[in-house]
Amino acid sequence: MHSDIRVCANWETTHDRPVYTLGDRCPVCDGPAANSAPAPFDPTDRYGEYRRRARPAGPDEQDE
Ligand SMILES: [Zn+2]
Repeated sequence: MHSDIRVCANWETTHDRPVYTLGDRCPVCDGPAANSAPAPFDPTDRYGEYRRRARPAGPDEQDE
């Protein structure tokens, strides 16, 4: 199940670090809060295919 955690949409300019909230607005600056889902760390590992393609042919066990 996806989490409903949101992050202040303007945290990069308004805060020193991301401000997370479960509501629609930032609790600190009262600005809009955006869904934090599009994160660089996708649990579905969308880069897995690219990583396997970039690696020369070999056993998948060599993951280190
Ligand atoms: Zn904020």
